[in-house]
Amino acid sequence: MASLNDIRTTFLDYFGRNGHEIVESSPLVPRNDPTMMFANSGMVQFKNVFTGLEHRDYTRAASSQKCVRAGGKHNDLDNVGYTARHHTFFEMLGNFSFGDYFKNEAIPYAWELITRDFGIDRTRLLATVYHTDDEAFEVWKKVGVPEDRIIRIPTHDNFWQMGPTGPCGPCTEIFYDHGDHIWGGPPGSPEEDGDRFIEIWNIVFMQNEQFADGSMVPLEMQSIDTGMGLERIGALLQGKHDNYDTDLMRSLIEASAHATSVDPDGPKNVHHRVIADHLRSTSFLIADGVMPSNEGRGYVLRRIMRRAMRHAHLLGAQDPLMYRLVPALVAQMGQAYPELGRAQALITETLKLEEERFRATLDRGLRLLDEALDDLPEDAHLPGETAFKLYDTYGFPLDLTQDALREKGRVVDVDGFDAAMAEQKAKARAAWVGSGETADAKIWFDLADEHGATEFLGYDTEIAEGQI
Ligand code: ATP
Ligand code: MG
Ligand code: MG
Ligand code: MG
Repeated sequence: MASLNDIRTTFLDYFGRNGHEIVESSPLVPRNDPTMMFANSGMVQFKNVFTGLEHRDYTRAASSQKCVRAGGKHNDLDNVGYTARHHTFFEMLGNFSFGDYFKNEAIPYAWELITRDFGIDRTRLLATVYHTDDEAFEVWKKVGVPEDRIIRIPTHDNFWQMGPTGPCGPCTEIFYDHGDHIWGGPPGSPEEDGDRFIEIWNIVFMQNEQFADGSMVPLEMQSIDTGMGLERIGALLQGKHDNYDTDLMRSLIEASAHATSVDPDGPKNVHHRVIADHLRSTSFLIADGVMPSNEGRGYVLRRIMRRAMRHAHLLGAQDPLMYRLVPALVAQMGQAYPELGRAQALITETLKLEEERFRATLDRGLRLLDEALDDLPEDAHLPGETAFKLYDTYGFPLDLTQDALREKGRVVDVDGFDAAMAEQKAKARAAWVGSGETADAKIWFDLADEHGATEFLGYDTEIAEGQI
């Protein structure tokens, strides 16, 4: 059976044989791009090459890019543990053409790799195209996909934009049908979010440029940007439906099961899945220089760490758990990503320290949450003030509280939470004003209001950065 490590190599070798420069993954923290939280697709490091601002000495490239989708525009945090196909950290395999080949080659490359080299059953594959993209439709027919398995999609799912202005174009996506024993419908249907039809590969055709006045003109340099999740293609090739059943994810789940003595396949399986996922995102983020903090990227890291700790708590872990799993991760991924081994001591220490510091308040906060729920009627929302108290006094990020409530089928009154937060800010401002240091304080509070004192939300307004 091919391991995920083998599959990554097969992908890169295939495109290498076809004249592509093999380019290393860029770091998770994008260089010189403060508007973007984390690299979330393979094209991020090539953005300026696509727009023509930067030139390289090759016109085709392939990579396996480290991606994190746990904040900003792309946020899969709430999917983790619950869907078969989402991680917060994953590897995106991609091939790119910078004004070199276009639709006529990009589709056959993908088709040949997955049906011939990987040997995937072609009768289970479907393709989507943007509803007006007759060219892509024809290329799919030419490679042998029957017309009734080429679906025209009129939504933005099949039209990619780099931002409100700039390069854009239709895309085509390849889906695999895992069979009618799994809930879900084909792309474009109301049940498309199920896990029966799983999206494998997205191929973007950059052919237009969008201008601020609303006009769109054809690009002089037509380019290709593709992305395929290694864990998703890996699941297929290993005869699995679920990404978490692939060799790599499974070994992390088993490490968690071993360390906690809780059955990896029992009713607590979801906690092992979350821990395996969060172990990867937190470790890779630390290796790329992010440290837990109360704002910006560091706060996203802290939120993921604290979520993981709650799941460790639910597995009955009495002592810090995450740092003990780092060797299993390094054993699996240290060869492909040497930065992981280089940062191993830092990752271990950071995970351990954060877990030690949060441990006591986690226990107390969870008890407070349980008591609050006991006092509430069955279907009532958790009051915003309670969620705010958990945040303010116990260090529970809002999403941690929401994650805890989800298992119980409950939700937080988010408006109430926001109101409690606003009230506290107003009180703090009034106290400062009363202290006489009004001029400085006003500037500080205006800045805090604008940028968010605790949770910097500026990234959430980012539009389609690096999305494919
Ligand atoms: P989905 O619709 O399943 O959420 P997507 O359309 O958001 O996927 P793209 O932005 O098109 O995904 O990214 C390209 C590819 O990267 C996808 O086809 C998929 O194989 C993979 N991918 C995307 N998000 C994730 C994730 N959270 N975990 C694992 N793989 C992912
Ligand atoms: Mg998605
Ligand atoms: Mg999709
Ligand atoms: Mg997609």
